[in-house]
Amino acid sequence: MGAIKEKSCVDEVWAAIDDPEKHVVVQEAPAIRAALGEEFGLAPGTLVAGKMHAALKRLGFDAVFDTNFTADLTIMEEGSELVKRIKGGGVLPQITSCSPGWIKFAEHFYPDLLDHISTCKSPQQMFGSLAKTYYAEKAEMDPKKIVSVSVMPCTAKKFEASRPEMTDSGYQDVDYVLTTRELARMIKEAGIDFASLPDEEAEPLMGMYTGAGTIFGATGGVMEAALRTAYKLVTGKELENLDITPVRGMAGIKEATVDVDGLDVKVAVAHGLGNARKIMDPVRVGKSPYHFIEIMACPGGCVGGGGQPISFDMALRSTRGQTLYNEDAKLPYRKSHENPSIKRLYEEYLEEPLGEKSHHLLHTRYKSR
Ligand code: SF4
Repeated sequence: MGAIKEKSCVDEVWAAIDDPEKHVVVQEAPAIRAALGEEFGLAPGTLVAGKMHAALKRLGFDAVFDTNFTADLTIMEEGSELVKRIKGGGVLPQITSCSPGWIKFAEHFYPDLLDHISTCKSPQQMFGSLAKTYYAEKAEMDPKKIVSVSVMPCTAKKFEASRPEMTDSGYQDVDYVLTTRELARMIKEAGIDFASLPDEEAEPLMGMYTGAGTIFGATGGVMEAALRTAYKLVTGKELENLDITPVRGMAGIKEATVDVDGLDVKVAVAHGLGNARKIMDPVRVGKSPYHFIEIMACPGGCVGGGGQPISFDMALRSTRGQTLYNEDAKLPYRKSHENPSIKRLYEEYLEEPLGEKSHHLLHTRYKSR
């Protein structure tokens, strides 16, 4: 876990909500729903996705969406990028890019290997650039009026949102980042009885999500989600067994090999920056056997992030992760490419993964620091 005391933006978010000239939209990362309940006396690992959406509506946000939607979108783009690299002789292994703690570490300590990192923005930033373009267009709203708020398990997401290149919508893509703890504070300040709230849905346009999107919050989840879709992209067929259990769990480094149309795709997952080093050093000397690597800065992945209710207990992180796998197993769609709202986004706006519009809004570059 990284920094445990964040610079709060609760007051700024309250001011935006109270400003009748502003239209305040909110997204919440996958890991929030597995931990927010702990702040209100619910048992660790209680899934509170529905209560979380209900609470955000009662706080006065004008549109409640969900980062899980853009986690699905990340998979569409990142899976397509992986297939392109494998088929086209691109730089391998490809490495995930959704953890800003990991990205900053790579920019400092592995600047020679930045070409390995997927050009996909994180789900937070994909959401940010679409909120002020796609959503603004659909809602027939001046993007200047939109204030984009995210709720993240992580203090590094505040830094990520402030990176100067994160303005592809023509505006600051994400205006304010709240941690899970800050959201809990707002709910308490508003006097909302969180535990008694009914379950409510996010708005489907940018709030519908699949099981693949929700497992992003646990170590190994991005890899598992990506493999479900990459298999379809390469073979045209659906992966039969969606539970890729070798990449689940709390082992520091996990590996799997998946047969994709006769090609043994080798993957690895690391969480915690010590394990990141162990997996990156062989890449540097050309000895990595993998095609695709997932790295998350925090032990356990985002469920163990520095913005979550504070705990250093790995068993608790494991419980939160299991909550996300349980939600995945129950959702009607479990593969990102099956998400009806993602299909609509491509049909009506982006056109195709890795297309011109996607490239402009959803991809980025890294720099040596
Ligand atoms: S792994 Fe940690 S640093 Fe990375 S996005 Fe998740 S919470 Fe943030």
